[in-house]
Amino acid sequence: MAEKLSAVKGMNDILPPDSARWEWFESKVRALMARYAYANVRTPIVEPTALFVRGLGEVTDIVEKEMYSFEDSMNGDRLTLRPEATAGIVRAMIEHNALYNGPMRVWSAVSLFRHERPQKGRYRQFHQIDVEALGFAGPDVDAEQILMCRALLRDLGIPMEHVRLELNSLGQPSERMAHRAALIAHFEAHADVLDEDARRRLHSNPLRILDTKNPAMQAIVEAAPQLMDFLGEASLAHLNAVRAVLDAAGLAYRINPRLVRGMDYYNLTVFEWITDKLGSQGTVCGGGRYDGLFEQLGGKPTPAVGWGMGVERMLLLLEAVGVQPPASAPDAYAIVPSAEAMPVAMVTCEALRAAGASVQMHAGTGEGMGSMKSQFKKADASGARHALIFGADELAQGLVTVKSLRDGGGAQIARPLAEAAAWAPTLQSLA
Ligand code: ATP
Ligand code: MG
Repeated sequence: MAEKLSAVKGMNDILPPDSARWEWFESKVRALMARYAYANVRTPIVEPTALFVRGLGEVTDIVEKEMYSFEDSMNGDRLTLRPEATAGIVRAMIEHNALYNGPMRVWSAVSLFRHERPQKGRYRQFHQIDVEALGFAGPDVDAEQILMCRALLRDLGIPMEHVRLELNSLGQPSERMAHRAALIAHFEAHADVLDEDARRRLHSNPLRILDTKNPAMQAIVEAAPQLMDFLGEASLAHLNAVRAVLDAAGLAYRINPRLVRGMDYYNLTVFEWITDKLGSQGTVCGGGRYDGLFEQLGGKPTPAVGWGMGVERMLLLLEAVGVQPPASAPDAYAIVPSAEAMPVAMVTCEALRAAGASVQMHAGTGEGMGSMKSQFKKADASGARHALIFGADELAQGLVTVKSLRDGGGAQIARPLAEAAAWAPTLQSLA
């Protein structure tokens, strides 16, 4: 036998029955986006490497060590598998002048790629639901997006006690410059405790040091000067306006002055939704305002805000809190006793499906027809509400037997083959 091949480490296959959980989650997301009037966008998985280097910042975990970058062997272009969604969406908006007629609310379901150490809740290919409001200065839209997250958690049936919202303001670039000087002085005074990453970032991007996951550095990070104390009136007013909406909406949050997020493009509002159910992979959703990114990528000044939600982590959280998506099963399963009955059965199933019923049929004419008993077993295993029995006697009279497989089962009724569309709706009820 030829040698078997495996998927790339940290990249997962999503197969049944697990894929049903994904579809259920995605259907909740789609319904949410429709209710908030966010329009779907899809951008390429591969982008020029320069987009992310310029967009996310050279001294970030993603750009320094997590990107899958390669040279296009045809023309030597430097390309990267997208590690996050926002930069590509902003590029597309600028390229197509899509905000010409006014601001836009958009969302996207994306696959992302980061070269990280794979573990539970952390993969090399992972998925996000991403929302962006482009051309809005906020703070109303910032709050709207945070509330969208809560609405989705509710729609999914995740009790709010298992997630918390953390909020911070990163202010404006001038405020960050003043804070930065104070940060550098603080970390220089504790240079002995800095790890290699931190020492390298001390003068290039000291704010990043606050994002460290190194336990040995937590104490000096705790003691570091807080950006909050450097914020001017306008930045504080923006934060307070967001808080006022959250308060009015009865959504509890914690101000976390050390919340900085992993990309450089953020300013003002930043937030994360965190659960304690998933260990150190506890952040299920993160986002914030990025008013400077359009200009940084060659566009006109355009205020914007967005968030990204980790789909794998949300599904793990659903599992951890015991939320089971409703089982999906066909309305009916066709039992086909003989090869002769197969064409009529197939045509009837087609008519039922055209009328909106979900019908599973496995006549098995290629593998040898199974006994009635084994077909009934399969019908039961499928979870179908009804069996359709295409027996020779019924067919001779132009009929098919519909038998209930639920609630003890047994009840049966003969239905005319020629009028499938008329009785298809009855398959969708438990009668
Ligand atoms: P972390 O601090 O856990 O590395 P991050 O700050 O890098 O997260 P973001 O870039 O803000 O994450 O992405 C938003 C969300 O995407 C995260 O909150 C998380 O739910 C999810 N996510 C990020 N990286 C991964 C990954 N490697 N595998 C699975 N999900 C991820
Ligand atoms: Mg990360």
